[in-house]
Amino acid sequence: MSGDLDGRRLSPPQMSSPDGAAEQDGRGPIPPLDTAGDDAMTPELITEVITRAAAAAPRSRQVELGPSEAGEPCTRRLAYKLLDWDRPGRAMDRWAPVQGVAVHAWLAEAFRAENERLGRDRYLIERRVQPLTDEQARQAGLPGGLAGSCDLFDRDQGLVTDWKHVGTTRLAKYTAEGPGQQYRTQAHLYGRGMAAAGEDVRDVAVVFLPRASSLTGIHVWREPYDPAVAAAAVARLTAIRDAVIALDPERYPGRWGLFPTAPQSCRFCPWLKPGSRHLATGCPGHLDAASSAAPIESLIA
Ligand code: SF4
Repeated sequence: MSGDLDGRRLSPPQMSSPDGAAEQDGRGPIPPLDTAGDDAMTPELITEVITRAAAAAPRSRQVELGPSEAGEPCTRRLAYKLLDWDRPGRAMDRWAPVQGVAVHAWLAEAFRAENERLGRDRYLIERRVQPLTDEQARQAGLPGGLAGSCDLFDRDQGLVTDWKHVGTTRLAKYTAEGPGQQYRTQAHLYGRGMAAAGEDVRDVAVVFLPRASSLTGIHVWREPYDPAVAAAAVARLTAIRDAVIALDPERYPGRWGLFPTAPQSCRFCPWLKPGSRHLATGCPGHLDAASSAAPIESLIA
């Protein structure tokens, strides 16, 4: 390797002699690694590379609603999404989602290997599903039909599985309280998509994997597949879509405040703009806004 990348010289690696002096093939000391230039391997550069790659990932660029967002408790966030509203462009720490993507990829390979070991396709892995037919999607005003990739389907058990890679605090919370509206809805929408694809869906599961140095504490939440859960989510989204049309916050920005908020997902919300006083430019986050949302709450609860 020449050490030349895009016209920039890279310092060669250092090798230490037994007495500590850097040398290379007896040709004298190697100059120290240049860490002062723009391309030095600094924490800032690494963060920038990770952030740029994560922002360019298909999941980050997805415009249409998918199963993972359909049960989002914050109605305002869904309204922003349905209108594909401009995002404030806040720099987000994407390390946790990056780890989640990496773990998903590893698990996909692990279950592919399991299929090979069994000599049959017991597991359907990262299967693309569409819970709504094109006609249902058109009627609901949800282009794309809430399509998404189901992490795992076990044909032997008729079981949909969704992986969640979570920190210690959230693992304890989900273990004690269950998966919550969003993850439960997501699992049942995958169930609906799998059923629409002709699979015999009997149960859905959300598996919480610890973002820690040990697998101790894995929590499996599971319940029978219930098409009514997915249907309720579709009905709620349709009502929100109708509210967006009726309230027209694009024309009347003050009406953004009429969409109820919820606290659970502000941290990773693309529309979060701390301190914002104009909801058309970004949301300050959940501020216990229940009272201002009351007028339309019954419509989109
Ligand atoms: S920042 Fe929080 S309250 Fe505002 S839209 Fe996003 S999730 Fe909802």
